Amino acid sequence: MNTHQKIGLFFGSFNPVHIGHMIIANIMAENTDLNKVWFVVSPQNPFKLSKGLLHEFDRYDMVKAATADHYKLEVSDVEFNLTKPSYTIHTLAYLREKFPDKEFKVILGEDNLENFSKWKNHEEILEQFGLYVYQRPHATNSELKRHPNVKVVDAPLLDISATYIRNCIRNNKSIRYLVPEPVEQLIRLKHYYQ
Ligand code: ATP
Repeated sequence: MNTHQKIGLFFGSFNPVHIGHMIIANIMAENTDLNKVWFVVSPQNPFKLSKGLLHEFDRYDMVKAATADHYKLEVSDVEFNLTKPSYTIHTLAYLREKFPDKEFKVILGEDNLENFSKWKNHEEILEQFGLYVYQRPHATNSELKRHPNVKVVDAPLLDISATYIRNCIRNNKSIRYLVPEPVEQLIRLKHYYQ
C-alpha cells in the first residue's frame, strides 16, 4: 500500500540524543498531522573537524536505540552519503526525488527561526516544503510564524542540551532520565564522552 505520508524531519548532530529531542519528536509525531518523524543525523563536516563529536555511526546507533520502541519515530542516515557540508535544501531535494509519495516538513525550534532567512534557498524550503516550529526559551517573536507554510506547535520547554549531558559524563555526574535508558546504556558500555 502506497499511501501519502507526511514526514517531519528533525535535523541534528544528536551528540547524544536526549529527552529534549525525544519530547519534541514525540509531540510532533503524536499531536500533529505528521505520520512519522525522522531524526536526520548530521555527518561529520570534513572541513570542520570538531573535537568531542562522536562518529556519525555511533550517533546514529544511539538514535536508533532511542527510537526502537516508537513506530512513528525513525532515524535516517541520508546525509552521510550526500555532498558535504550538508545543506537542508539538498537533503530535501534528494528525499523528494527518492520518496515521491511522501511530503517532507522541516521541524525547527523557534530559536532557529530567527536566522532561517540566512539558510541556503530558505524561500524554496518554505514554499515547497514547509516548517513545523516549536517554541523555545529566549526566542524573539519572528514574523515567519505567520507564514501559511509555517505551523506552530505547542511543546514544553526543556532547558537541557547535549553539551550539558557531555559535561555531566566528563564530570562523573549521573545522566539518568536525561537520555533514554538504551542511550545511557550505550554511553556507559562504549565509554563515550569521557
Ligand atoms: P549541543 O549542546 O551539542 O549543541 P543540542 O542539544 O542543541 O546539542 P542538537 O543535536 O544540536 O542538540 O539538536 C538538534 C535540534 O534539536 C536543534 O535544532 C536544536 O535546536 C534542538 N534542540 C536541542 N535541545 C533541545 C531541547 N532541550 N528542546 C528542544 N529542542 C532542542
